[in-house]
Amino acid sequence: MERNTLKKNQKRRWLFGSLRILLALGIAFFICQIQLDYIESLLFDMRVRSRPAPDTSGLISIINIDTKTQEALKRLPEAADHTLLFKQLAKANPLRVLYTQDFSEIIGSYEELEQLARATAQMPFTVVEDRKLPEVGLEEEFKLLPPLQDISVVSGPKTADTQLFARDGVTRRLVLSLEDQPLLHKQIATSINGITHDHDFRGWFNLKRTNQVYINFRPAGTYETYSFIDVVEGRVAAENFANKIVIIGRDTRSESKDYVLTPYSRDLTGMSRSEMHANMLDTLILNNGPVKTPEWLNIIITSLIAVLTVFVVLTLRPARGLLILGLAMLLFSLLSWTLFAMFGVWIDVSHPFLAIFICYYFFIPYRLIIENRRSWEYYQRNNLLTQVEELKSNFLRMMSHDLKTPLARIQGMTEVALREQGQLTPTQLDALRTIGTSSEELSGFVSSILDVGRIESKEIKLHLKSKDINALLNDVTEKLRYLAQQKNIQIVTEFEPMFSVKIDEDLIRQVFTNLIENAIKYSPENSSILVTTEEIDGKLNVQVADQGMGIAQEDLNNLFSKFYRSKNVRDGAIRGSGLGLYLSRYFVNLHKGSIAVESELNKGSTFTVELPMNL
Ligand code: ADP
Repeated sequence: MERNTLKKNQKRRWLFGSLRILLALGIAFFICQIQLDYIESLLFDMRVRSRPAPDTSGLISIINIDTKTQEALKRLPEAADHTLLFKQLAKANPLRVLYTQDFSEIIGSYEELEQLARATAQMPFTVVEDRKLPEVGLEEEFKLLPPLQDISVVSGPKTADTQLFARDGVTRRLVLSLEDQPLLHKQIATSINGITHDHDFRGWFNLKRTNQVYINFRPAGTYETYSFIDVVEGRVAAENFANKIVIIGRDTRSESKDYVLTPYSRDLTGMSRSEMHANMLDTLILNNGPVKTPEWLNIIITSLIAVLTVFVVLTLRPARGLLILGLAMLLFSLLSWTLFAMFGVWIDVSHPFLAIFICYYFFIPYRLIIENRRSWEYYQRNNLLTQVEELKSNFLRMMSHDLKTPLARIQGMTEVALREQGQLTPTQLDALRTIGTSSEELSGFVSSILDVGRIESKEIKLHLKSKDINALLNDVTEKLRYLAQQKNIQIVTEFEPMFSVKIDEDLIRQVFTNLIENAIKYSPENSSILVTTEEIDGKLNVQVADQGMGIAQEDLNNLFSKFYRSKNVRDGAIRGSGLGLYLSRYFVNLHKGSIAVESELNKGSTFTVELPMNL
């Protein structure tokens, strides 16, 4: 029967457990469908900014048309100035020269432009077209007008998440190729590191007809940058450009199209386009683009975190649950940061975080309902128990009361009969004595129960009188000496002389009678009991020590509870109600005193009562 319910309970628990896990998985799956690119990109940018900046290849130098150039020329550079620049560069033998501004905007006469075309032909020169993709059939659009028609213009687009992903206008990606046709950055990287296949570039991914890579950004100002005018006027040593990729751009802080927003800065002039191209090139040359973890892994992580949250919310105490969830979030953030900073791995954190919040708020009310129902059940059970307890007490009180009169009559009649001793046979005499002690025992039990009733209805009031405790104890021991003699137990007293104290004599007499009676009851024959009194720290200290059976450690805590009897006496021959110590403690406490016990099994017990000297 019990086994069956146990099995049923186990089955139910399993069922509920699996249901919760399923629900958590459902929530996780649903959360993974939500587009959180904006938040995820923000968290990605934070990771980019907070890690140590990656090294550069050292292969790139930048020349910018800057405010210094503008001030020196009192205008923007024209064809003749550019020709001078390329002449200087030709001397330095650069690996590659990239021009990132619109080449057709350069002003100059036809001859000047011819000279410019000739100057660029002295080196591997390319104009970067970073606004358009090289669509089939539109090749002509890339061509410059004569006399610049022979200059190569190659597409190396700047991306910004305006329509896609985070939609925050930040540049985070570069395009490797369009339908397997390599674009500028990949072409240059391939010529340096020999990587030809898109899927050999770290972190590559496919988007529509393109293959792309996330840019491994460094903060603005990382690359060596020279002023256009300084190079033109020969103030920059040629070796700064020897065997380098030289990127020419503009940084006059006047045109927002010359700049891009990056994970480092959303300032309008956060990073010049020339520096953006440097970052793009280095990402591919060093092949260290960030790797975004695949979608299936994100779903698994989100699911695990959702299940953990549900488990924590439903089983742990709220404060501990919050602490664990907080720690889990912290650890996960730390993990994602470390993965990015050390290995360039971009793990999705926004979905797992959302899973924690949603699961938490979804399951908290559920937990509240369960807890509410449980506390309602406790409340009902508690109510029932109180009622039963009350009924029991009332019944005992009524019964005891009704027992008192017939008991007194039995005791009286026994005494009358005993007075006629001469006319009784020894067997009758024995029987009468047994009736006498038994009815005395019963009467003691009835009194105890009545006392408990009085305690519970708070009827007991103290009637204080000055009393010499030593005299009271002498009185008690005298009365019990007959009982002790029957087991040949010796009661030894060691009393310190003492002033009288104010006590309720009846109650305190009951306390000591009980303690000494117990000592006799629970001691073997031929042992002795020591009763001592002394004054310690202004308190009256009475000890009753025996050499009896002692009390087991597990019983000590409950010894003073109502009806409690130690395990080793419960079924034995020594009778008792288990009320004596309960009443004793109550009476001592009424006197603002305390009662304690020390005991060792089979060695003996010592009960100590402490009473204040002046109540
Ligand atoms: P009882 O009527 O059973 O003696 P008490 O309340 O006086 O009830 O004592 C409670 C229990 O404490 C006893 O049943 C007994 O197991 C244990 N006990 C009390 N005094 C002693 C003692 N001196 N030695 C060993 N056990 C004791």
